[in-house]
Amino acid sequence: MKPETIAIHASNLVKSTTGDVTPPISLSTTFFRDEDGGYPGGHMYSRVSNPNRSALENTVSKLEFGEDAAAFSSGNTCGMALFQALKPGSHIIAPDDMYWGIKKQLLTIFNETLEFDFVDQTDINLIVSSIKPNTKLIWIETPSNPLLKVTDIEEIAKVAKIHQLTLACDSTFASPILQNPILLGADIVMHSSTKYLGGHSDVIGGILVTAKKDELWERIKNVQQTGGAIPSPFDCFLLCRSIKTLAYRMKGHCENGKKVADYLNNHPNVEAVFYPGLTNHPQHEIAKKQMKDFGGMMSFLVRGDVEATRKVVNQVHLFAQATSLGGVESLIEHRYSVEGPDSKTPKNLLRISVGLEHIDDIIADLEQALG
Ligand SMILES: *Cc1c(COP(=O)(O)O)cnc(C)c1O
Repeated sequence: MKPETIAIHASNLVKSTTGDVTPPISLSTTFFRDEDGGYPGGHMYSRVSNPNRSALENTVSKLEFGEDAAAFSSGNTCGMALFQALKPGSHIIAPDDMYWGIKKQLLTIFNETLEFDFVDQTDINLIVSSIKPNTKLIWIETPSNPLLKVTDIEEIAKVAKIHQLTLACDSTFASPILQNPILLGADIVMHSSTKYLGGHSDVIGGILVTAKKDELWERIKNVQQTGGAIPSPFDCFLLCRSIKTLAYRMKGHCENGKKVADYLNNHPNVEAVFYPGLTNHPQHEIAKKQMKDFGGMMSFLVRGDVEATRKVVNQVHLFAQATSLGGVESLIEHRYSVEGPDSKTPKNLLRISVGLEHIDDIIADLEQALG
């Protein structure tokens, strides 16, 4: 089946005895056992598995062409679970512009147990030359945050295969509709489901999908089920509900995104626009090869200093000045002031998540704010 259909039907796993078309929220923490000790409903205890979580995992696993999925209580927890599943002393090759929350896990939580290098992964030679005897994992993030750098998943997967490394891809900015890393050779895909999967800025969650149920995956599932950083049944219900419209929301984000990128690209007060769909994007050809469309995320440099840049975010009316992305409402954010003084993000950079409002209203708001 096609993604539009999977998104609507794959979460209807449970045939309800009361005839519900939409599966109910299973709040029960525990499940009846048989006379012979078995579990007729397929679940034992909700930390280990729960009908709503199984529905979510089944849906995202199918959308990403994986064999299995593990849902977590946040996107960041996906990083925690994968790093905890690696043997101590393992070396990781991560992007230099890695999502800062997950980079912070490596720097402050795993700094004594794991080794890591942050490299510019748009240069494959830098990845190859960073491989060490104890390297186990290449973590990529594409398109990346906040500069929308695009890394070549297929080429990096070839390197990972030759050196027997696991390739994990944070595909949050793309969503399963626009990019499927497993089909390009990745072993694990990660989504912060807080973003496009949730789509309404009202649930925090994360999910990992695996290409195969190998030994590392068993370790990750153990971290999920025994570690217990699981999403609630209500969170899973909300995500399944949201995913039903994901394909259509992505169409709108892509359509509006392209128009906003073109508008900004031609604006005299804008110094540069970073959007993989623009032909002047340095990795536009790679983006075209591995993405079906280019999404609603972009960033741009305001012509001027920090003051001029802050002025733009303070002058928008329709856009909310807030962090996060992937919701139906448009958001704008001055990344440098979120990331703090160690940030390498340019001080005049603004990141926008283009929402699903009418394009004329979105552009009119930017027009009055940019002056
Ligand atoms: C938001 C985000 C995360 C972290 O997810 P949370 O749900 O906030 O924990 C990881 N990677 C990317 C690319 C993100 O945008």
